[in-house]
Amino acid sequence: MASLNPIPAIDLQALQLDDARALLRHAGQTAGQEIDESALAYLQRLIDGLCELSLKDPLTGLGNRRHFIATLERAIEAAARSGDSVLLLLLDIDHFKSINDAHGHLAGDHVLQAVATALGRCVRPMDTVVRYGGEEFALVLPNCRPACGYAVAERVRRAIEALSIAATPAVSLQVTVSIGGAYAPQWVRSTPDAWIARADQQLYRAKSDGRNQALLDLPGELSANAEEKGARLGHFVLNPAAA
Ligand code: GH3
Ligand code: MG
Ligand code: MG
Repeated sequence: MASLNPIPAIDLQALQLDDARALLRHAGQTAGQEIDESALAYLQRLIDGLCELSLKDPLTGLGNRRHFIATLERAIEAAARSGDSVLLLLLDIDHFKSINDAHGHLAGDHVLQAVATALGRCVRPMDTVVRYGGEEFALVLPNCRPACGYAVAERVRRAIEALSIAATPAVSLQVTVSIGGAYAPQWVRSTPDAWIARADQQLYRAKSDGRNQALLDLPGELSANAEEKGARLGHFVLNPAAA
Protein backbone atom coordinates (compact mmCIF):
# COMPACT_ATOMS: atom_id res chain seq x y z
CA MET A 1 0.00 0.00 0.00
CA ALA A 2 1.28 3.51 -0.85
CA SER A 3 2.37 5.61 2.10
CA LEU A 4 0.06 8.51 3.00
CA ASN A 5 3.04 10.85 3.33
CA PRO A 6 5.51 9.77 0.66
CA ILE A 7 9.01 11.21 0.89
CA PRO A 8 9.36 13.63 -2.05
CA ALA A 9 11.68 12.45 -4.82
CA ILE A 10 15.03 14.21 -5.01
CA ASP A 11 15.61 16.26 -8.16
CA LEU A 12 18.93 14.72 -9.23
CA GLN A 13 19.71 17.41 -11.80
CA ALA A 14 19.29 20.19 -9.26
CA LEU A 15 21.72 18.32 -7.03
CA GLN A 16 24.49 18.41 -9.66
CA LEU A 17 24.88 14.71 -9.15
CA ASP A 18 28.27 14.63 -10.82
CA ASP A 19 29.82 16.65 -8.01
CA ALA A 20 30.13 15.02 -4.57
CA ARG A 21 31.19 18.25 -2.86
CA ALA A 22 28.11 20.07 -4.20
CA LEU A 23 25.96 17.16 -3.11
CA LEU A 24 27.20 17.36 0.48
CA ARG A 25 26.79 21.12 0.49
CA HIS A 26 23.23 20.77 -0.77
CA ALA A 27 22.39 18.27 1.95
CA GLY A 28 23.71 20.75 4.53
CA GLN A 29 26.33 18.26 5.65
CA THR A 30 29.32 20.54 5.36
CA ALA A 31 28.19 23.76 7.01
CA GLY A 32 30.83 24.53 9.60
CA GLN A 33 32.34 21.05 9.27
CA GLU A 34 35.60 19.69 7.89
CA ILE A 35 34.98 17.50 4.87
CA ASP A 36 36.42 14.04 5.25
CA GLU A 37 38.40 13.83 2.00
CA SER A 38 38.44 10.04 1.84
CA ALA A 39 34.66 9.89 2.37
CA LEU A 40 34.31 12.55 -0.32
CA ALA A 41 36.44 10.51 -2.73
CA TYR A 42 34.35 7.42 -1.98
CA LEU A 43 31.11 9.33 -2.57
CA GLN A 44 32.49 10.72 -5.84
CA ARG A 45 33.35 7.18 -7.04
CA LEU A 46 29.88 6.04 -6.06
CA ILE A 47 28.31 8.91 -7.99
CA ASP A 48 30.50 8.26 -11.04
CA GLY A 49 29.48 4.58 -10.95
CA LEU A 50 25.79 5.46 -10.72
CA CYS A 51 26.09 7.99 -13.55
CA GLU A 52 27.80 5.37 -15.68
CA LEU A 53 25.05 2.87 -14.88
CA SER A 54 22.29 5.31 -15.71
CA LEU A 55 23.84 6.69 -18.91
CA LYS A 56 25.52 3.68 -20.57
CA ASP A 57 24.21 0.82 -22.66
CA PRO A 58 25.62 -2.34 -21.04
CA LEU A 59 25.91 -4.36 -24.27
CA THR A 60 27.98 -1.90 -26.29
CA GLY A 61 29.39 0.50 -23.70
CA LEU A 62 27.96 3.41 -25.70
CA GLY A 63 25.71 6.08 -24.25
CA ASN A 64 22.08 5.05 -23.84
CA ARG A 65 18.83 6.79 -24.68
CA ARG A 66 18.95 8.95 -21.53
CA HIS A 67 22.45 10.13 -22.42
CA PHE A 68 21.25 10.75 -25.98
CA ILE A 69 18.39 13.03 -24.92
CA ALA A 70 20.64 14.98 -22.52
CA THR A 71 23.21 15.42 -25.32
CA LEU A 72 20.52 16.68 -27.71
CA GLU A 73 19.29 19.16 -25.11
CA ARG A 74 22.81 20.56 -24.68
CA ALA A 75 23.34 20.70 -28.45
CA ILE A 76 20.03 22.53 -28.93
CA GLU A 77 21.16 25.12 -26.38
CA ALA A 78 24.47 25.57 -28.22
CA ALA A 79 22.79 25.86 -31.64
CA ALA A 80 20.27 28.36 -30.27
CA ARG A 81 22.87 30.50 -28.50
CA SER A 82 25.89 30.38 -30.81
CA GLY A 83 24.50 29.21 -34.14
CA ASP A 84 26.66 26.08 -34.01
CA SER A 85 25.92 23.60 -36.82
CA VAL A 86 25.06 20.34 -35.09
CA LEU A 87 24.22 17.30 -37.15
CA LEU A 88 22.19 14.40 -35.80
CA LEU A 89 22.52 11.07 -37.63
CA LEU A 90 20.18 8.18 -36.86
CA LEU A 91 21.44 4.78 -38.01
CA ASP A 92 19.45 1.58 -38.24
CA ILE A 93 21.04 -1.75 -39.20
CA ASP A 94 19.40 -3.17 -42.31
CA HIS A 95 17.59 -6.51 -42.02
CA PHE A 96 19.01 -7.10 -38.58
CA LYS A 97 16.23 -9.46 -37.58
CA SER A 98 17.34 -11.92 -40.24
CA ILE A 99 20.81 -12.08 -38.59
CA ASN A 100 19.20 -13.11 -35.31
CA ASP A 101 16.96 -15.56 -37.12
CA ALA A 102 19.78 -17.16 -39.12
CA HIS A 103 22.64 -17.11 -36.59
CA GLY A 104 21.07 -16.62 -33.16
CA HIS A 105 20.63 -13.75 -30.74
CA LEU A 106 24.21 -13.98 -29.46
CA ALA A 107 25.57 -13.52 -32.98
CA GLY A 108 23.24 -10.51 -33.29
CA ASP A 109 24.74 -9.12 -30.08
CA HIS A 110 28.27 -9.48 -31.53
CA VAL A 111 27.15 -7.55 -34.59
CA LEU A 112 25.78 -4.75 -32.39
CA GLN A 113 29.08 -4.60 -30.48
CA ALA A 114 31.15 -4.52 -33.69
CA VAL A 115 29.01 -1.75 -35.17
CA ALA A 116 29.29 0.22 -31.92
CA THR A 117 33.09 -0.08 -31.94
CA ALA A 118 33.28 0.95 -35.60
CA LEU A 119 31.08 4.00 -34.96
CA GLY A 120 33.32 5.01 -32.08
CA ARG A 121 36.27 4.94 -34.48
CA CYS A 122 34.48 7.11 -37.06
CA VAL A 123 33.98 10.15 -34.87
CA ARG A 124 35.94 12.98 -33.27
CA PRO A 125 36.37 13.28 -29.48
CA MET A 126 33.74 16.04 -29.36
CA ASP A 127 31.10 13.81 -31.00
CA THR A 128 28.63 11.57 -29.20
CA VAL A 129 27.73 8.01 -30.19
CA VAL A 130 24.77 6.28 -28.55
CA ARG A 131 22.71 3.15 -28.90
CA TYR A 132 19.20 4.46 -28.49
CA GLY A 133 17.22 1.34 -29.38
CA GLY A 134 17.65 -2.32 -30.30
CA GLU A 135 19.67 -2.03 -33.53
CA GLU A 136 19.47 1.73 -33.68
CA PHE A 137 22.35 4.09 -33.08
CA ALA A 138 22.73 7.86 -33.17
CA LEU A 139 25.61 10.26 -33.70
CA VAL A 140 25.52 13.87 -32.51
CA LEU A 141 28.16 15.89 -34.36
CA PRO A 142 28.74 19.47 -33.21
CA ASN A 143 30.57 21.93 -35.42
CA CYS A 144 29.71 20.00 -38.59
CA ARG A 145 29.05 22.40 -41.47
CA PRO A 146 26.10 21.53 -43.75
CA ALA A 147 28.51 21.26 -46.69
CA CYS A 148 30.21 18.36 -44.87
CA GLY A 149 27.12 16.55 -43.62
CA TYR A 150 26.74 14.12 -46.50
CA ALA A 151 30.41 13.30 -46.62
CA VAL A 152 30.34 12.48 -42.92
CA ALA A 153 27.21 10.35 -43.18
CA GLU A 154 28.61 8.53 -46.18
CA ARG A 155 31.92 7.90 -44.43
CA VAL A 156 30.03 6.29 -41.55
CA ARG A 157 27.89 4.20 -43.90
CA ARG A 158 30.96 2.94 -45.74
CA ALA A 159 32.82 2.14 -42.53
CA ILE A 160 30.00 -0.17 -41.44
CA GLU A 161 29.66 -1.74 -44.88
CA ALA A 162 33.39 -2.52 -44.88
CA LEU A 163 33.29 -4.47 -41.61
CA SER A 164 33.80 -8.19 -41.53
CA ILE A 165 32.20 -9.22 -38.24
CA ALA A 166 33.02 -12.51 -36.53
CA ALA A 167 29.46 -13.19 -35.42
CA THR A 168 30.31 -16.76 -34.37
CA PRO A 169 33.67 -18.59 -34.56
CA ALA A 170 32.53 -20.05 -37.90
CA VAL A 171 30.62 -17.15 -39.41
CA SER A 172 31.76 -13.72 -40.59
CA LEU A 173 29.05 -11.28 -41.55
CA GLN A 174 28.72 -8.02 -43.43
CA VAL A 175 25.99 -5.58 -42.50
CA THR A 176 24.75 -2.30 -43.90
CA VAL A 177 23.02 0.65 -42.26
CA SER A 178 20.46 3.16 -43.38
CA ILE A 179 21.07 6.69 -42.12
CA GLY A 180 18.75 9.66 -41.66
CA GLY A 181 20.16 13.04 -40.65
CA ALA A 182 18.98 16.48 -39.62
CA TYR A 183 20.60 19.65 -38.30
CA ALA A 184 19.54 21.43 -35.13
CA PRO A 185 17.89 24.69 -36.15
CA GLN A 186 20.30 27.58 -35.53
CA TRP A 187 19.27 30.52 -33.33
CA VAL A 188 16.03 28.68 -32.51
CA ARG A 189 15.27 26.59 -29.43
CA SER A 190 14.03 23.28 -30.77
CA THR A 191 13.20 20.13 -28.81
CA PRO A 192 14.88 16.71 -28.91
CA ASP A 193 11.62 15.15 -30.13
CA ALA A 194 11.21 17.59 -33.03
CA TRP A 195 14.85 17.16 -34.07
CA ILE A 196 14.71 13.38 -33.86
CA ALA A 197 11.46 13.38 -35.85
CA ARG A 198 13.12 15.21 -38.75
CA ALA A 199 16.07 12.81 -38.81
CA ASP A 200 13.71 9.85 -38.43
CA GLN A 201 11.73 11.00 -41.45
CA GLN A 202 14.92 10.84 -43.52
CA LEU A 203 15.77 7.44 -42.06
CA TYR A 204 12.33 6.19 -43.04
CA ARG A 205 12.89 7.43 -46.59
CA ALA A 206 16.34 5.84 -46.72
CA LYS A 207 14.77 2.52 -45.70
CA SER A 208 11.88 2.68 -48.11
CA ASP A 209 14.14 3.83 -50.98
CA GLY A 210 16.18 0.63 -50.72
CA ARG A 211 18.34 0.82 -47.54
CA ASN A 212 22.16 1.13 -47.31
CA GLN A 213 22.05 4.84 -48.00
CA ALA A 214 22.17 8.18 -46.20
CA LEU A 215 19.55 10.91 -46.56
CA LEU A 216 19.79 14.28 -44.85
CA ASP A 217 17.34 17.04 -44.07
CA LEU A 218 19.46 20.12 -44.69
CA PRO A 219 18.89 23.40 -42.83
CA GLY A 220 16.83 26.01 -44.69
CA GLU A 221 19.43 28.77 -44.42
CA LEU A 222 22.69 27.75 -46.01
CA SER A 223 25.36 30.30 -46.52
CA ALA A 224 25.90 29.30 -49.85
CA ASN A 225 28.54 27.78 -51.98
CA ALA A 226 27.43 26.24 -55.26
CA GLU A 227 27.16 22.77 -53.83
CA GLU A 228 24.99 23.97 -50.96
CA LYS A 229 22.72 25.93 -53.28
CA GLY A 230 22.18 22.75 -55.27
CA ALA A 231 21.50 20.83 -52.10
CA ARG A 232 18.91 23.37 -51.03
CA LEU A 233 16.72 22.47 -53.99
CA GLY A 234 16.06 19.03 -52.59
CA HIS A 235 17.44 16.14 -50.63
CA PHE A 236 20.75 14.64 -51.60
CA VAL A 237 20.70 10.90 -51.97
CA LEU A 238 23.82 8.88 -51.48
CA ASN A 239 22.85 5.57 -52.89
CA PRO A 240 25.78 3.32 -53.74
CA ALA A 241 23.44 1.11 -55.73
CA ALA A 242 22.79 4.03 -58.07
CA ALA A 243 26.42 5.19 -58.30
P1 GH3 B 1 15.00 -3.00 -41.28
O1 GH3 B 1 15.99 -3.14 -42.38
O2 GH3 B 1 13.68 -2.54 -41.78
O3 GH3 B 1 15.50 -2.13 -40.17
O4 GH3 B 1 14.75 -4.45 -40.69
P2 GH3 B 1 15.26 -5.06 -39.32
O5 GH3 B 1 15.14 -6.54 -39.41
O6 GH3 B 1 16.61 -4.50 -39.00
O7 GH3 B 1 14.25 -4.40 -38.29
P3 GH3 B 1 13.22 -5.06 -37.29
O8 GH3 B 1 12.68 -3.89 -36.48
O9 GH3 B 1 12.23 -5.92 -37.99
O10 GH3 B 1 14.09 -5.97 -36.35
C1 GH3 B 1 14.95 -5.48 -35.38
C2 GH3 B 1 15.42 -6.66 -34.60
O11 GH3 B 1 16.40 -6.28 -33.63
C3 GH3 B 1 14.32 -7.37 -33.84
C4 GH3 B 1 14.88 -7.56 -32.44
O12 GH3 B 1 14.71 -8.88 -32.00
C5 GH3 B 1 16.35 -7.28 -32.63
N1 GH3 B 1 16.99 -6.79 -31.42
C6 GH3 B 1 16.64 -5.73 -30.65
N2 GH3 B 1 17.49 -5.59 -29.61
C7 GH3 B 1 18.41 -6.59 -29.72
C8 GH3 B 1 19.55 -6.97 -28.93
O13 GH3 B 1 19.90 -6.35 -27.91
N3 GH3 B 1 20.26 -8.05 -29.36
C9 GH3 B 1 19.90 -8.76 -30.48
N4 GH3 B 1 20.64 -9.80 -30.84
N5 GH3 B 1 18.82 -8.42 -31.21
C10 GH3 B 1 18.09 -7.35 -30.85
MG1 MG C 1 15.00 -0.55 -36.09
MG1 MG D 1 16.87 -2.43 -38.69
